[in-house]
Amino acid sequence: MRRSNLGLVLREVLSAPAPVSRADVAASTGLTRATVSSLVESLLAAGLVTELAPVAPQGAGRPAVPLGPARGTVAALGLVISVDYLGVRALDLAGEVLAERVEAGDFRRSDPPTVLGGARRLVGEVAGDLADGPRLVGLGIAVPGLVAAGTRRLRIAPNLGWRDVDLGDLLAGTPLADLRVEVDNEANLAARAESWARKGDVRDFVYVNGEVGVGGALVQAGAVFVGSDGGAGEIGHITVAPDGPDCRCGATGCLEAFAGMDAMRRAAGLPVDAGVEVLLDRAAASDAAARAAVEGAGRALGIALASTLNTVAIHRVVLAGNFAVLAEFVRAPVAAELRRRVLLAEWSPPEVEVALVDDRPAATGAALAALAGLIADPAAWTTA
Ligand SMILES: [Zn+2]
Repeated sequence: MRRSNLGLVLREVLSAPAPVSRADVAASTGLTRATVSSLVESLLAAGLVTELAPVAPQGAGRPAVPLGPARGTVAALGLVISVDYLGVRALDLAGEVLAERVEAGDFRRSDPPTVLGGARRLVGEVAGDLADGPRLVGLGIAVPGLVAAGTRRLRIAPNLGWRDVDLGDLLAGTPLADLRVEVDNEANLAARAESWARKGDVRDFVYVNGEVGVGGALVQAGAVFVGSDGGAGEIGHITVAPDGPDCRCGATGCLEAFAGMDAMRRAAGLPVDAGVEVLLDRAAASDAAARAAVEGAGRALGIALASTLNTVAIHRVVLAGNFAVLAEFVRAPVAAELRRRVLLAEWSPPEVEVALVDDRPAATGAALAALAGLIADPAAWTTA
């Protein structure tokens, strides 16, 4: 009982939109004030929560002491293996980035052992940056592909050219071998970070992340829906035009073949190493090819998202990654297609928003996934 209540109290403190007092936690959990005080003492001693500056009482009585997540005491690592970079971020319970390293690369059709060797080194370097700092509780890994639900096995990542790669033993033989490892799809983890940043404010949305590929995730009641097999939310491979261009997945006319970064660059006549800012600048300067590329991507995105909204009856879209950068040009065609094609648009007008988390959200989401075990069952990290 005490063990599960410890997790309950920790989650109340971490998920509250504003700092809560012991009395607030007692009221929201139904536990007695004495029980909450005792559990909070354990969480304080373990460095999982912290006391903030007291707030003057409204009436008579002692000032309430607000509680918040502890800073810099425990951390998890989030590793992103993307098509064009490797990144590792250390995040504490307050969501503060304690250390980070990013290395650009080109991992299209790459050799898994080579890339994983680089990833392992980068994880070790970030852990080294934290030496004598926080306790590390785990490593989350974000990959641009499908991960079998509940496993650490990547099934397919079309843009990396990888199939059936086990990521669970990434840290084997290193000083970090004991760290718990979680693996999930990059867009699922980015959507997790977005849901976390919104603190339960917006609980249902379709998240669509423009990278070299197009990742998607369905967030329902604040949680990412992965389906029975882990493959839900693959909006990038919705067929937009069956006779359209080839997609890296082997099919033709997928959304990604119109709205992925490679497709937009090609349509805009830009070199393969041009960043999204170059595309944005060209579109803003009314370069006809760049405008057509970006607006065409927006239309394809709207068509694919309309099918998604009609299927899952969620009415909010969150644009992330390149789509967030290009929102000025992408949002209108997306909204127009949704108005035209979503059956319930008249009653539940679709909303198109830009993601709040714009700085490598998958790295944050991966670290959050690695922190989740501790948050679910903090007893292993406390002494009482
Ligand atoms: Zn495809």
